Amino acid sequence: MTKIALQNIRHSYLGSPQTDGDFAIKHINTVFEDGGAYALLGPSGCGKTTLLGIVSGLISPTSGRILFDGEDITRVDTIHRHIAQVFQFPVIYDTMTVFDNLAFPLRNRKVPESDIKARVLDVAKMLDLEEGIHRRAASLTVDGKQKISLGRGLVREDVNVMMFDEPLTVIDQNMKWELRSKLKELHQNVRTTMIYVTHDQTEALTFADEVLVMYEGRVVQSGTPVELFEKPRHTFVGYFIGSPGMNIFPCQISGETVEFSGLPIECDNQIQGIRSLQDSQAITEIGIRPEYVRFSNQGIPVRICRVDDLGRHQLVHVEHEHHAIKLICPEDAPIPEGSACVRFEKSRTFLYADKWLAGEGSQS
Ligand code: ATP
Repeated sequence: MTKIALQNIRHSYLGSPQTDGDFAIKHINTVFEDGGAYALLGPSGCGKTTLLGIVSGLISPTSGRILFDGEDITRVDTIHRHIAQVFQFPVIYDTMTVFDNLAFPLRNRKVPESDIKARVLDVAKMLDLEEGIHRRAASLTVDGKQKISLGRGLVREDVNVMMFDEPLTVIDQNMKWELRSKLKELHQNVRTTMIYVTHDQTEALTFADEVLVMYEGRVVQSGTPVELFEKPRHTFVGYFIGSPGMNIFPCQISGETVEFSGLPIECDNQIQGIRSLQDSQAITEIGIRPEYVRFSNQGIPVRICRVDDLGRHQLVHVEHEHHAIKLICPEDAPIPEGSACVRFEKSRTFLYADKWLAGEGSQS
């Protein structure tokens, strides 16, 4: 178990990078605490795999340092970092039994056979692999094989960190839920530092205590699932987390007032947000999640466009002067027809400047 610190990490795949755009990782400063469960969440191309490669030692960053428990290991090779990795596709030996697959990393490290047996049986029990442990791995379904990949990391006692790169990609939809819960349970038992890479918010939010949302080579916010939902520090977090994501609209600042389409809107961070914008040319926007937009007697006039019945709630699409607004309403709430008014809950409405929460600045 290890605390991992990434300090001022930048990485470019180009020989002589010139601009920020030449960097796959633009600037990352972050800490993975000893024994924590983390997810790196972001869209394709945002730099998740590159960052994982930097932690594992497969990629040497263009600049910055990696510390394991305070020791600089930036130039230490992968093998000496003692990392276990689980990839998208199970990495196992089909012709070996389940037992031998699990024992393999220990035999490689010359662990005595008597210790191996106890350790393997322990891990097989954790993963529900006891039944059929002496069968060939080839006979298992893909989720069973992925459990073996996981087990090969868990049997080792020298592992500093376990890293998962989209491990559920090839798993059947029904089994995904089971494996995800299993992983969470395992983390609670073994307390190894774990980093889980995914572009799927459900996987990230259910597995991790802390999620790092990545966008264009930066961590734009790290926090608990609740923090990311309740107070997105960047419009991308608002858009990417939630289903559907946050409503984001252009707004204007007029003195102490925030205006959306000429109408005054109250925001949670209004005072410090506007103060931080003195003499700034920043592009300003407001963000409000569909869960916190309500129908009301007065407020923003809208036209009702469509209602999607999503079972436990209704997703209502309305429009104000060509701005599409989404609301989430309880399943039995009456929905007005034709036209109506909506209001935004003040404590859930945020002012953004150049995509960052106004008054709070960028994170990295
Ligand atoms: P995905 O989910 O699709 O794997 P990702 O978030 O893991 O995406 P990376 O694979 O880290 O993103 O890629 C980050 C950026 O670096 C992308 O623009 C990608 O094209 C670029 N990149 C990745 N690997 C290389 C490479 N070996 N050579 C050059 N550019 C690369």
